[in-house]
Amino acid sequence: MIINKITPQGYCSGVKNALSIAYEVLASASYPRPIYLLGSIIHNQHVIEDLEKKGAILVEEKGTSRSDLIDKIEKGTVIFSAHGVAPIVYEKAKKKGLTIVDTTCGNVLLVQKRMKEYLSLGYTCSYIGTKGHPECEGVLGISSDILLLESITDLDKIPNTSKLYVSNQTTLSLFETEQIYKELQKRFPNAILDNKICKATTIRQQACLDQEKVDLCLVVGDKASSNTKKLALASKSIGISTILIENAKDLEQIDFTNIKSISITSGASTPEYIVEEIIEKLKRVD
Ligand code: SF4
Repeated sequence: MIINKITPQGYCSGVKNALSIAYEVLASASYPRPIYLLGSIIHNQHVIEDLEKKGAILVEEKGTSRSDLIDKIEKGTVIFSAHGVAPIVYEKAKKKGLTIVDTTCGNVLLVQKRMKEYLSLGYTCSYIGTKGHPECEGVLGISSDILLLESITDLDKIPNTSKLYVSNQTTLSLFETEQIYKELQKRFPNAILDNKICKATTIRQQACLDQEKVDLCLVVGDKASSNTKKLALASKSIGISTILIENAKDLEQIDFTNIKSISITSGASTPEYIVEEIIEKLKRVD
């Protein structure tokens, strides 16, 4: 079987930074205990389990915002994830006297900063993102005036305005986001359209789009990871049969009959060793 490892893949700089800070905090006696992770610091279960082994306590509940989750923490240190948090989360943490460790990626901080700037200039502000995703929650938490656009049909919700600013979640699909921006350009020629898909997301999706034809593409990553899901979408969009898997065990559910060539890529929050384990296991498939 031919196995093609797509490059680049794996940890982006934002994830590397968040993890190195988290491990440093856990190893240092100078941070007040307990040490909490406010939501998954990155979307990868293997990494979260490792951090928990080192003493971190994950505070997470499906469908519960970080602004509500912080209410459950009374003392110690709280680590904000690479996705960023809403201003209210900062305020609550400060009021409680928690030690705050903020690992928000610089790309996300820039989106938040620009959104605040344009709001203060009186623009109608819209944000293309996925409802419930922590990065989206952090940006929408800046102001209830920010209008969420989840798909092209949501453009109908934008009021008629000559001052429109639109930005987006950093890990969206290149193709889908471009379609939305094209339509926005048509409807609002004077709008400021600030595409903020990050470089790491862009080059990983582009590598997926540029891959050679194979019988199957495996995308490795957590099912909650936005950038991982978008990689799978990119691969499918060029007609390649694609499966999202989380680890080597998931290979057991795949039928490899007639599969002669495989490509493999991974999300920006997937540890390299998981991909290597999968490749080793694939080499043993008959
Ligand atoms: S995917 Fe992009 S925005 Fe998200 S953490 Fe990585 S570099 Fe930052």
